[in-house]
Amino acid sequence: MDKNLTQEEKRLVEYAKEAIVKYNKIRHEKGNIDTLYSFIISDHGKIHDGGCFEPNIAHATVCGERHAIANMILQESNKAKIKSIVVADPVPEVQKHGTPPCGTCRHLIWTYGTPETTVILMQYIQGKDGWTFPKIEKYTAKDFYPLPYEPKEGLWDNWQPK
Ligand SMILES: [Zn+2]
Repeated sequence: MDKNLTQEEKRLVEYAKEAIVKYNKIRHEKGNIDTLYSFIISDHGKIHDGGCFEPNIAHATVCGERHAIANMILQESNKAKIKSIVVADPVPEVQKHGTPPCGTCRHLIWTYGTPETTVILMQYIQGKDGWTFPKIEKYTAKDFYPLPYEPKEGLWDNWQPK
């Protein structure tokens, strides 16, 4: 784990902190509670937001990471690549590790990023006077997905039993 953030990652983290407060305030006004958010900076330096979508049918749930990836694809086409992704999850108190992406999102981060795409786990805590961001960890897509699922096209073409 490398905690040194690049200038671009710092920009993304600062953006994320402001956006989390903004979105949480909207949610709280309507009686909702904090949720998991994700923010992407693309290879073109554009930032995309995502938030966990939890409807009343469990299987329709969309992870925050996937929401942010879908927004990147909408705005920049499927040629865009994830340079860095923040996963920000609320915690009651500081945890040893922030919430890592689920298996499906690890695959999608791999698919729409590169092995060097950075994955920044951010813990945040709601206090009486607002939100604090006590812990950040930085990994790479490869750290989370060392043996990716990559079906080989054409593997069975022209196959004959030997
Ligand atoms: Zn996920």
